[in-house]
Amino acid sequence: TSFSSLPLSPAMLANLQQLGYEAMTPIQATSLPIALQGKDLIAQAKTGSGKTAAFALALLSKLNPRWFAVQTLVLCPTRELADQVTVEIRRLARAEENIKVVTVCGGVPVRGQRASLENGAHIVVGTPGRVMDLLERGYLNLEGLNTLVLDEADRMLDMGFFDDIATVVKQAPKERQTLLFSATYPEGIAKLAQQFMRDPQQITI
Ligand code: AMP
Repeated sequence: TSFSSLPLSPAMLANLQQLGYEAMTPIQATSLPIALQGKDLIAQAKTGSGKTAAFALALLSKLNPRWFAVQTLVLCPTRELADQVTVEIRRLARAEENIKVVTVCGGVPVRGQRASLENGAHIVVGTPGRVMDLLERGYLNLEGLNTLVLDEADRMLDMGFFDDIATVVKQAPKERQTLLFSATYPEGIAKLAQQFMRDPQQITI
């Protein structure tokens, strides 16, 4: 199926074509119609399935570039994945004006990340520990959040991030869309969904 069947802006459709994204991958074809309606979603998907674009298109379609607030937070297990997600979101965001994506991960000084956040970020991509740290220090504010993405949620749980995720999510507005992606469906995922999601639709490819 082609992306043109989706309620995306002409600029976004042109950008997708330029990127060579012609047909949707199976995860995109199943999740995008649901995600673009603003519904919560649990999707079983691996790296390489096109899952990043599946959530990126949903969050970008709601984003207001003229409002300087963090509107989306993507939590990832590792810096490597956070960097990959950031690259993909930036590519897809080219269609719109000046969307700022900031990556925040542990292992690097807080200073630079703080400066980037102060300059105004629309989208923050990061690991749970560092995101929690920046929230506690008051450098990151989630009051304007409308979309939360938990990417590779099973790996985050394997790494012991459940409590950090819980601390972060409690600071986000209740009125939001939550999208969870996971390659496997261990018990912890059901717990995350139960505590932090609202009537999620579940899809398996
Ligand atoms: P991901 O699973 O999100 O890591 O994506 C895997 C790779 O597939 C990335 O390099 C994307 O840029 C690319 N990709 C995602 N969706 C599509 C699509 N519909 N058509 C072609 N390439 C895609």
